[in-house]
Amino acid sequence: MKLIIASNNAGKVREYKQLLAGAGFDEVLSLKEAGLVCDPEETGATFEENAAIKARALHELSGCAALADDSGLMVDALGGEPGVYSARWLGLGDDKAKNTEILRRLDGKTDEERSARFVCAIHFIYADGREVTARGVCEGRIGYEPRGENGFGYDPIFMYGDKSFAEIDGEMKNEVSHRGNALRELEKKLGANGGKP
Ligand code: IMP
Repeated sequence: MKLIIASNNAGKVREYKQLLAGAGFDEVLSLKEAGLVCDPEETGATFEENAAIKARALHELSGCAALADDSGLMVDALGGEPGVYSARWLGLGDDKAKNTEILRRLDGKTDEERSARFVCAIHFIYADGREVTARGVCEGRIGYEPRGENGFGYDPIFMYGDKSFAEIDGEMKNEVSHRGNALRELEKKLGANGGKP
């Protein structure tokens, strides 16, 4: 039985392949590896809805088991923005520009007023249509300037303790991150299913 991940992001696909290695699938493939193009419009109001849209479109297209995720940053002082618009917030594609704008909007805010969290929703569909969902969160706060060279997206301005996500290495980030937590939650739920596709 084949499982397709609704992503071409090499890092993401690698993590999912590791997690699902013992789950009984013959193959775990990215969209590209499966020779598919699947890019439905993400019209959901929540991470869960967008992950479900992507997983269902892929399941319908392929007839195979499918996994999709949706993730982003929620800043309390900005009413939860960028939220589901994280990838395209304010029409800004450039990560640096988005980070600069968040820092500008939080100018003058105290540590307590800079609380934020990364959220990741995963939607998994077995070939027979059964659906399993998981959610992971990582609490932190927005820093005062971009810091560090690792990671991507909002990592340089997201402080976890006294370090930004761009200052810690990938392995450590996985241990505490929203995506890591969602993956572990999914693993538990698939395990409860006997791990059988
Ligand atoms: P997607 O779930 O891959 O569509 O990610 C949505 C957007 O959220 C990305 O383009 C990033 O801007 C942001 N994002 C999601 N996860 C992370 C993370 O771990 N670090 C930094 N930014 C992230």
